[in-house]
Amino acid sequence: MSATAERPLLFLDIDGPLIPFGSPQPAAPAASDDDGNPLLARLDPGIGARLLGLGCSLVWATTWMEEANEVVAPRLGLPRRPVLDWPEADEPALHGLHWKTRPLVEWAGGRPFVWVDDEIGAVDRQWVAAAHPGPALLHRVDPARGLQDSDFRTLTDWLATLARPS
Ligand SMILES: [Mg+2]
Repeated sequence: MSATAERPLLFLDIDGPLIPFGSPQPAAPAASDDDGNPLLARLDPGIGARLLGLGCSLVWATTWMEEANEVVAPRLGLPRRPVLDWPEADEPALHGLHWKTRPLVEWAGGRPFVWVDDEIGAVDRQWVAAAHPGPALLHRVDPARGLQDSDFRTLTDWLATLARPS
């Protein structure tokens, strides 16, 4: 197996982690650079390099869907990455389970993964613990602030434990 194939997955949400809701009103947006969406002004362009530095294989897990690649990734200097699909409409929704949880566990297929999101709850943690045989870190980000230094420390510390023999 190649080094790339063995890299842990990073399922990454956008609204909350990358676009914090609690930002002060952005300055008058540059009319040419917001694609009509003022939320994009809240993206921190420097965060792309920090995400790449984690050494994970990134998968977008966001309602932005393909716009994650078209609109968000270029602003962060990130390459195109796969996008987690919505689950099939005929799958029964489980009360309290996030729509992303089941598909991302299936995607991982037992491979180690990190999930960074502002909407992770107790039911998601229980589901992953029961359904995912490999290591997983479900990391909830404060949507008022977005990804902070302390979040990156948590992620790098956890990823370092994967590299160590137990
Ligand atoms: Mg979110």
